[in-house]
Amino acid sequence: MRLTVIGAGPAYTDDPGSRGACYLLEAGPENGEGGVMAMDLGHGAFASLASRVAPERLAAVLVSHLHPDHFVDLVPLRHWLRYHVAPPAQIAVHAHVDLSARLDGLHGQAGFADGSLDLVPLSAGARSVGPFEVIVAPVRHTADSFAFRLHDGSASGVGLVYSGDVGEADDLAPLIRPGDVLLVECSFGAGPVPVGAAHLDGPAVGALAAATRPSSVLLTHILPGMDPEAAIAAVRAAFDGPVAVVHPGFSATI
Ligand SMILES: [Zn+2]
Ligand SMILES: [Zn+2]
Repeated sequence: MRLTVIGAGPAYTDDPGSRGACYLLEAGPENGEGGVMAMDLGHGAFASLASRVAPERLAAVLVSHLHPDHFVDLVPLRHWLRYHVAPPAQIAVHAHVDLSARLDGLHGQAGFADGSLDLVPLSAGARSVGPFEVIVAPVRHTADSFAFRLHDGSASGVGLVYSGDVGEADDLAPLIRPGDVLLVECSFGAGPVPVGAAHLDGPAVGALAAATRPSSVLLTHILPGMDPEAAIAAVRAAFDGPVAVVHPGFSATI
């Protein structure tokens, strides 16, 4: 599969190039079904996503949790599907069961979300999403947070594990198979994480990677003021594989 980073920002930043979380995934050529999917659609990400793939072509959108930096650009997606595409299109959105109510409340309009977005409530376990096999695991961040492992059926067996936002690195361990690529939040850089912040830092990610042996670690969702190089060094203190910080435009074949 191919991963393209659309947005890798946190909930707030002074970086004008930053966008909320959004990752585009294309199934590999071995997967006869083909297809593209987005994981998360945070603030400011929609236009960049739409510039890379016609939004109505998305097999689905996976939403890790109901913080706006991960889902609020479902609003422009909804408008695009309803007003820009003829005839209007519908897209499956796999998200916490409360998603439709959140979007309806945001817009002050009952039925706003369901008119264009087919909500598929998330729960722990395996499911097919477009061309991908997805394992869903609840994680401790908000009460409605999930992490994912994606695989496109290719012979390599290598998957992509995406943390969403998470406060306990151990919650991700059951998803990670040796050799997977780990796309993981590292909000507090080299650390420490303030008490109660429910996010990760480099030492936590390093310990997780050392225990689970992914082929590489991609750090995302780093807060303003944190030093990305120090975050990488903190992970490498425990994990001897490749570690990088991702930004919009980063892509990798998995
Ligand atoms: Zn976030
Ligand atoms: Zn969050």
